[in-house]
Amino acid sequence: MNRNETLSILKELKHSPNKKLGQNFLIDKNVLDKLISASELKKNDIILEIGAGLGALTSELIKRVEKVYSYEIDKTLYRFLKNKFSSSSNLELFNQDILKVQIPAHNKVVSNIPYSITGPILEKVFYNSSPPSGILIIEKSLANRIFIGTNYKNFSRITVSFNAFMKPSRKFSISPNSFYPSPKIELSMITVYPREYLNPFLRSEEGRTFFLNFVCGIMPYKNKNLSNAILSYLNSRKASHLSKKDIKEYLDSINFDDMKLSSYNYDDFIVLSEAFHKIFKNFK
Ligand code: SAH
Repeated sequence: MNRNETLSILKELKHSPNKKLGQNFLIDKNVLDKLISASELKKNDIILEIGAGLGALTSELIKRVEKVYSYEIDKTLYRFLKNKFSSSSNLELFNQDILKVQIPAHNKVVSNIPYSITGPILEKVFYNSSPPSGILIIEKSLANRIFIGTNYKNFSRITVSFNAFMKPSRKFSISPNSFYPSPKIELSMITVYPREYLNPFLRSEEGRTFFLNFVCGIMPYKNKNLSNAILSYLNSRKASHLSKKDIKEYLDSINFDDMKLSSYNYDDFIVLSEAFHKIFKNFK
């Protein structure tokens, strides 16, 4: 769907793109082709699409795979899609908020997602015990925090949470002009795979919740040493029953040197969260 086709459909529907819902429709055939080719679609793939919009990506997906589950929160767009794809038996459309529902089982997520809710979408789709692969268009600044490489400037909460579950593989920039209306942010297409080995602590719901809260709690103090970051986190929650000395001794007992937060790798954070889970079980 190019710019003119998109404009004429919107006109027909008397629909102006809803900014709040992140409606930026893909109008660039090259980007669409890239997204499809990066997805390495197989006949037996079960695909999740988040935010179908006017169905530009949906129509390419349904030609190639066994099943597509597509979510679109906007009623007008959903009705348009229902009609457009009325004869596609391998597509199931949902007029629902992706963040509020239980999603059917799938092995890949392929989407140009609503950018404003990227964080919650990543959490919902990937931070679980058997995450799918993902080929997504997301905000570039977030993509840079996921794929930090050796650039610790971007080391953040999402770096640690995301990389605990997923293996970022490829990333490249996409021009905002590939969308109508063109968003005010820069974008990237990313390809990510589930990690081959998921730490057992993250296989349980309780472990995952604790880990994500722990990472969220200490990462604001990323320029501090580990013991100070943990202490600040505890103090900020007014939940401290541990002194700095206690924390240092505990870290020592589990063989963790007290270094700057960015010196630890993702697996260290999982091991750490599991260790602290043991001593403050009721602590969120
Ligand atoms: N994939 C389409 C549309 C991208 S725009 C394309 O590339 O052209 C993002 C779409 O996500 C919009 O249509 C918007 O209405 C939808 N959306 C926004 N928030 C949503 C939510 N919480 N659940 C489901 N869909 C949502």
